[in-house]
Amino acid sequence: MAEEQRLKERDPPVSAEGDVEVEPLEGAPAVAELDPETRARRDAALRRVRKLGDPVLRATAVPVERFDADLQEEVRRMGELMHDALGIGLAANQVGVLHRVLVFQAHEEDELVALVNPVIESVSEELEVAEEGCLSLPGVHVEVERPARVEVSARDEEGRELQLEAEGLRARVIQHEIDHLDGILILDRISRQARKAAMRAMREAQEPSGEAAASATGPSSTA
Ligand SMILES: [Zn+2]
Repeated sequence: MAEEQRLKERDPPVSAEGDVEVEPLEGAPAVAELDPETRARRDAALRRVRKLGDPVLRATAVPVERFDADLQEEVRRMGELMHDALGIGLAANQVGVLHRVLVFQAHEEDELVALVNPVIESVSEELEVAEEGCLSLPGVHVEVERPARVEVSARDEEGRELQLEAEGLRARVIQHEIDHLDGILILDRISRQARKAAMRAMREAQEPSGEAAASATGPSSTA
């Protein structure tokens, strides 16, 4: 683990297949290089994200029935929080709201997309493994296997129907966030051994003594 972190430090993320949620947008600086204001905003945003142990992360979110100004405000706030936290996706559970709502922006050049009541219509047989992190699991980075492509139907925050085909990082982040809506975390998608290591990494990231060190290694550590 220590070796892996050193490697990361030396070689900042270059892959677009980076961490879901906690990876900064492509080309963005590592956390240690962030200016103090961006970093303070990120830390404040992360404090508002529910962490492992909060039962809301294990609850199943319920479908949205009213596409009103309250929903639009909820989506706007989620997008803002996601940006401030330098994440690429956020599910409503993570901010303590049990609505089937998620936002994501996998690449800097993409628009922010909100999906309300998303349903995975089909997935590719082809699977891909890539590293994921989670704003609710500070310090945790694990390899997760998922279908490489998905077709999703949903509504936007105005209630308009959406059909989406996604691959690569977009497919990954959508699946990660829909998992949240069903109370599923990346810890549930890895081996028991990997889960043990992940829990250890999370404890270390949360220890006051480990905090500075963990943050210095990059965006992976969101203590
Ligand atoms: Zn997550």
